[in-house]
Amino acid sequence: MKLTRRQMLKLSGASLWGLALGGPLNSFGSPPDTKSGDPTQKNSLFDALPVFTPGTKLEKDEMRITFLGSSCIPRLSQECNSVYVETGSGDQFVFDCGTGVAAKYNAMGIPMSKMNKIFFTHLHADHTSDLTHIYCFGPAEDRKSPLYIWGPANSGWTYYDPKGNKRGPYDDGTRTFCENFRNLMRWHTESFSFGPTSYQGNPTPEDIYSAWGLKEVPVKVGDDDNWDGYAIFPIELDWSLRGDIAGDNIAYYNETTKVTVKHFPAIHTRRGSVSYKLEWNGLSMIFSGDSKPNTDMVQQAGGVDVVIHEMVMPAYDWARKNSDFDPNSPEFEKAKQYATLVQNSSHTPQGAFGFLMSQINPPPRLAVATHFQAADDTIASAIQSVRNHYPVGEVTFAADLMVLTVSPTRIRQERAVVSDFAFYPISPIDVNTPTNDPYYWKWHDPAIEDYAVSDPTVQVDLSTSIPPSEPGTNKFNYREDGY
Ligand SMILES: [Zn+2]
Ligand SMILES: [Zn+2]
Repeated sequence: MKLTRRQMLKLSGASLWGLALGGPLNSFGSPPDTKSGDPTQKNSLFDALPVFTPGTKLEKDEMRITFLGSSCIPRLSQECNSVYVETGSGDQFVFDCGTGVAAKYNAMGIPMSKMNKIFFTHLHADHTSDLTHIYCFGPAEDRKSPLYIWGPANSGWTYYDPKGNKRGPYDDGTRTFCENFRNLMRWHTESFSFGPTSYQGNPTPEDIYSAWGLKEVPVKVGDDDNWDGYAIFPIELDWSLRGDIAGDNIAYYNETTKVTVKHFPAIHTRRGSVSYKLEWNGLSMIFSGDSKPNTDMVQQAGGVDVVIHEMVMPAYDWARKNSDFDPNSPEFEKAKQYATLVQNSSHTPQGAFGFLMSQINPPPRLAVATHFQAADDTIASAIQSVRNHYPVGEVTFAADLMVLTVSPTRIRQERAVVSDFAFYPISPIDVNTPTNDPYYWKWHDPAIEDYAVSDPTVQVDLSTSIPPSEPGTNKFNYREDGY
């Protein structure tokens, strides 16, 4: 959506009105006041978008980008970061999966089997937290095949603390993250092995290597079988590569679906963050992850259709919204200093977002600011800062369930309407593909000759379990069908 001058005035008017009412820049704990149209409690831009119905068919020449999380902090209107990208050639990708996004994926009807390729921009928790749900419950649903996780390799950073102690280099890359994560989830994965967790005939690491144009055959972490749903294959990226040598920064190339995913360095807090660029059939999109504005982005983004880039609120506003401190108090000054520190070490201020877009040549067909707490008041402030540097290009602000359908001729911006009461989108059983036996069924204690076969309770201590009573005795009856 192009923000017209009228919309801008309307938004900034809403913001000023809020201030004139003494209305709260500080929205901490404020209940929504729909009557006065409190600009801190609604997102009129998003609300005005036409409705998207989940499941709407993607045409052969279209690419669809759905925002499942769009904020740097978890809030009910916006989870932390994730975008889901689908191509008309039948491929799909998850970029980051921050706090809370699993519920939004579910509400959108996106099955676990389509969330098996996850690209991490960096390993901050607001970009990785919901991996727990995706990983643990994928094999209970329809992802009975391994999970593949792309992300930066070790930062390689060494320094000395004031006492002269060497700190680093640490194993802080994606492989170590996955190894530890897999172990962390041990109790879950063992307990959930009463049902099948893999299909027969799942691709081998060699199959994946050639199908996805990887640089080397992927190696799983942990002791799972190579074909199992609880196997994790990290695919580490040299975060310093920027495509100086043709193809050195390609993370994924699928010859069947013709999708390429490239990576290039981002500047964020610590060495080892990347941004991603997806190219397919003449269409392209960039997902910045978290980053300060940088020249790699300017170079990579020229002519890209949709550039999704993070943006941070002004430190003053952030401090006010995060605290009840009097703006003249020393406490407030401290809060503002901290917000400034966060911004300067890690992020892209509003005006800088506009300046960055102005440097991209040719400019994107659509620039999307994300990682940003979007409401009428914050958007009004941001659009003014952005427009100071980028007066004409098309800009919008990400919100959860915003759907962009990109074709060679147009970009449709819509808002998905979903149920707050969704179940998992599809049946967990694919009856057409045979599964391997669950692990519990293979349970074997050499000390016990007559070991349990096909017993899902084999790992349970049932010594205090209350058994169902005999039919007709009316003591403690329950039926096997759960009624
Ligand atoms: Zn972040
Ligand atoms: Zn971050």
